[in-house]
Amino acid sequence: MSDSTRVYSYSAVLMGSPILLKLFAHDEALASRVFRLIKQYEDLLTVNRAQSQVMDINHAAGQHAVAVSSPVYALIKCAKAASLLPQSAFNLAIGPLVKRWRIGFRGDSVPPADEIARLLTLTDPRQVVLNDADESVYLTQPGMEIDLGAIAKGYIADRVRDYLHKEGIAQGLINLGGNVQTLGSPEGGWSIGLKKPFSTAGAMIGALEVANKSVVTSGVYERFFEHNGHLYHHILDPRTGYPLDNELDSVTIISSDSIDGDIWTTLMYGMGVEKGCAALRARPDIEAIFVTRTKEVVLSSAHHYRFTLLDSEYRLTGSTV
Ligand code: AMP
Ligand code: MG
Repeated sequence: MSDSTRVYSYSAVLMGSPILLKLFAHDEALASRVFRLIKQYEDLLTVNRAQSQVMDINHAAGQHAVAVSSPVYALIKCAKAASLLPQSAFNLAIGPLVKRWRIGFRGDSVPPADEIARLLTLTDPRQVVLNDADESVYLTQPGMEIDLGAIAKGYIADRVRDYLHKEGIAQGLINLGGNVQTLGSPEGGWSIGLKKPFSTAGAMIGALEVANKSVVTSGVYERFFEHNGHLYHHILDPRTGYPLDNELDSVTIISSDSIDGDIWTTLMYGMGVEKGCAALRARPDIEAIFVTRTKEVVLSSAHHYRFTLLDSEYRLTGSTV
């Protein structure tokens, strides 16, 4: 293999996730700068530590507005817009419920129903008040909390892509714990594995070939706990306060921007296969791959990528909508 086709992989653990960067040149210094960039955004956006710009907003809930940096403001504005879409399962104000369930963290438990009902009253996205003039955010009730966990990795993946472009990199890949963004098209495309739910780390249902696309997967198998034979996973239904309960094991979104993939996986979770495919007919720029509990793989359409099924336990079907 000539040097120009050799892939160099760099890894780190950031945002509680394994991060992988692939480049076609050996450039440790560039990899370090990329990881530093990711860490800077994590420091602004995290809600898993006492301090960040988002935590400053949360700490001031019910008291006063907090001015934040332009990227944080823009991301919150985008997350609020996604939360206000009709029938949206995405809710940036879901924080109090996420914190209470602690799914994926030590101490997870099923909260009493009355507590869920009480916390639901603290999750109205319209009570996240934005002020464009000073780029400030105000949560109108004490106890409200913004959680950008469903959108931050997608946003950061796009910033890494932009940074690599600026550095003159034509081909590369960044994987932020299952949130993949790609640059260019090496030898016809990047091959991205579609994870087999509830299986061993490397097990794949299939592989996608993409170029200049983001591939984001959200799966119930990523973070969950079991109680009395019931599986409680980390994607909550903002309407009920409980994990979304439907036929899906995972949703993958193929799109240009990873932020769209990150938002749309949640939207598709909320809609399920049938409504999801119908909604995507209006969005040829967004494509989905649904993996169901009954081991069906449903492609919303297949124009901008190639999919190869690798696991014979699964059946491949196109959208019937
Ligand atoms: P993702 O892996 O992108 O699907 O994001 C999952 C994370 O988003 C969870 O761990 C929570 O922090 C947060 N989250 C859970 N449910 C929702 C929801 N309905 N809307 C927005 N964020 C959510
Ligand atoms: Mg997401």
